[in-house]
Amino acid sequence: MKLLKTGDQNLVKQINKTIVFNTIKDKGPVSRAQISKDTGLNKATVSTMVSELLKESFVNEIGSGQSSGGRKPVMLYFNQHAGYSIGIDLGVNYILGILTNFNGDIIEKNMKTLNTLEIDEIINQIFLSIESLMKKAPESPYGIIGIGIGVPGQVDQHERILFAPNLNWKNIDLKKIVEDRFSIPTSIENEANAGATGEQLYGAGKDITNQVYVSIGIGIGTGIIINNRLYRGSSGISGEMGHFTIDTNGIKCSCGNRGCWELYASESALFKIAEKQDLASKNVEIDLDFLLTEAQKGNPKVLQLLNTLGENIGFGIINIINTFNPEVIIIGNRMAQFENWIMNPIKRVLEERLSFYHKSNTAIRFSILGNYSTALGANSFAITNFLSNMKITETGLV
Ligand SMILES: [Zn+2]
Repeated sequence: MKLLKTGDQNLVKQINKTIVFNTIKDKGPVSRAQISKDTGLNKATVSTMVSELLKESFVNEIGSGQSSGGRKPVMLYFNQHAGYSIGIDLGVNYILGILTNFNGDIIEKNMKTLNTLEIDEIINQIFLSIESLMKKAPESPYGIIGIGIGVPGQVDQHERILFAPNLNWKNIDLKKIVEDRFSIPTSIENEANAGATGEQLYGAGKDITNQVYVSIGIGIGTGIIINNRLYRGSSGISGEMGHFTIDTNGIKCSCGNRGCWELYASESALFKIAEKQDLASKNVEIDLDFLLTEAQKGNPKVLQLLNTLGENIGFGIINIINTFNPEVIIIGNRMAQFENWIMNPIKRVLEERLSFYHKSNTAIRFSILGNYSTALGANSFAITNFLSNMKITETGLV
């Protein structure tokens, strides 16, 4: 969000347009008179802003609403189909693409497993995913308004990928690569930041002011939302909490530190512990699906494994709660599907080790959007950027 100079008429207009837009979006169908009454803006201002929104196709008029007498008012509603956007979740071994309307409703999706870390091949697959979704977008006034991509790595304030350790990428300007190809505004965001935003807008973190989203996949990343805003840090790479130490003399980590949380509590940690045990006959590949099936069957070794992993997740969450005092911690990404088996060990660790006040004031939740948190969050940045260029700030400036 760009704040304009105080006193600037553009700023006043932006605020008024945002207020009218959000009122129609949240309360529509609604009449001009009702908007004026609800917002305190005078009728002339409401009328001017509505005319602009109608002209821009963000708002439509429908028939008439209830009236206590006299002429029935024309009702206004948000046109969520004014344009469409594309969200991409680039995982270490998959690409998930979605096409949504302005409400974040998924219209189309595609999913591709990646068997390569070769950058050109992965970029080609991203292009194919985007092209396929573009073809399926219904006719609309604005067409495809933006592309948002969530990536498993550090992204700086210019949206460049600094380092994606699990893809072995360094200094990749994916934003430029995609914009050069499609001429569509593209935003790049770290997958945990995107996931946090997705859950805050549409999922388990809806209407929660302070929350931390913990993405547990191959590694652990976190997305921090403070006062309803994503906290990116001074250069965009906050949230590397997978690398805080939970064992001072622990295993050496690729980041240079020792005993990092993600070495004990991620999907990779799970496989590392599993390798040491005889969980399956030699021909069976131990992957997440295998562990999930075995857990469902009640395999005691797998349950023990998940119990240990849950406790290790809990140790890290204690640090997060003590640091941020969030209302909610949301656990997302692929380990979230093990909720049934890791929730109790997490809760037990928190019960034993958290101070009284934190214990009673912090909720632990699991992602509601499941595999779509990151794609939906990345997609929402594309929508927000577009609306912001149209002088609308979705979350409101006031
Ligand atoms: Zn580390």
